[in-house]
Amino acid sequence: LVSREHHPARTTVQVGGVPIGPHTVTMIAGPCAVETPEQTLAAARMAQAAGATILRGGAFKPRTSPYAFQGLGIHGLRILADTRKITGMPVVTEVVGPRDVEVVANYADMLQVGTRNMQNFPLLQAVGECGKPVLLKRGMNATIEEWLMAAEYIAQRGNLDIVLCERGIRTFETATRNTLDISAVPVAQRLSHLPVIVDPSHSGGRRDLVLPLSRAAIVAGADGLIIDVHPQPEAALCDGPQALVKEDLQTLAHSLRHLTAFM
Ligand code: PEP
Repeated sequence: LVSREHHPARTTVQVGGVPIGPHTVTMIAGPCAVETPEQTLAAARMAQAAGATILRGGAFKPRTSPYAFQGLGIHGLRILADTRKITGMPVVTEVVGPRDVEVVANYADMLQVGTRNMQNFPLLQAVGECGKPVLLKRGMNATIEEWLMAAEYIAQRGNLDIVLCERGIRTFETATRNTLDISAVPVAQRLSHLPVIVDPSHSGGRRDLVLPLSRAAIVAGADGLIIDVHPQPEAALCDGPQALVKEDLQTLAHSLRHLTAFM
């Protein structure tokens, strides 16, 4: 169902009226985790001012340590919905278990399946029936074939509004948090008709790498980017070192505008 062999034309997925697909580069930005209404609105305003058209923000956070901030849950979803009301930006947020799909779908415009859950088959089937678009991150240990098969699980339940997201894979390299597999962009686009975006924040894990990785993604043909921003990264409850501040994001947006003008 997701293969280009059976569906040669590339797909555009609509997220609350915002297109993700060929002929456009969609910027999604927002805080890694929703912390407070003020922090979420400030991050959304930063994102919007730089040209982002979709707001990201985690309410259910899949953390490596059970002692780390796990997110605000439903309260976080309400903050995201309130922020959408103020800014008009559609919202993408992660769902970590099949039982939460219904409630997350009630608040969000797009459901994110994170790297750790890429092969959580009951979750994939549940989002396949949720009636909302899905952002499917590549598993950090998954091959491109496994990633596309995970998308197939969603599609099989009737949902073809899937956006693939390359977010870096585990390699022997320790200088970056993950290794951005830039070749996954053209390879996945050749094998599948689904849009492919890149997360330069979670792949590098470092603020200084977000700009070069974003540029690389766009040149490789990515249909969009998903970027962490925070009004006060040093106080962030999750992944502060990779979050951009307002000026960084504006530099990035400016650089991408230049790049896309020549493509
Ligand atoms: C995220 O986007 O908030 C996230 C946790 O990403 P990943 O699943 O890629 O680690």
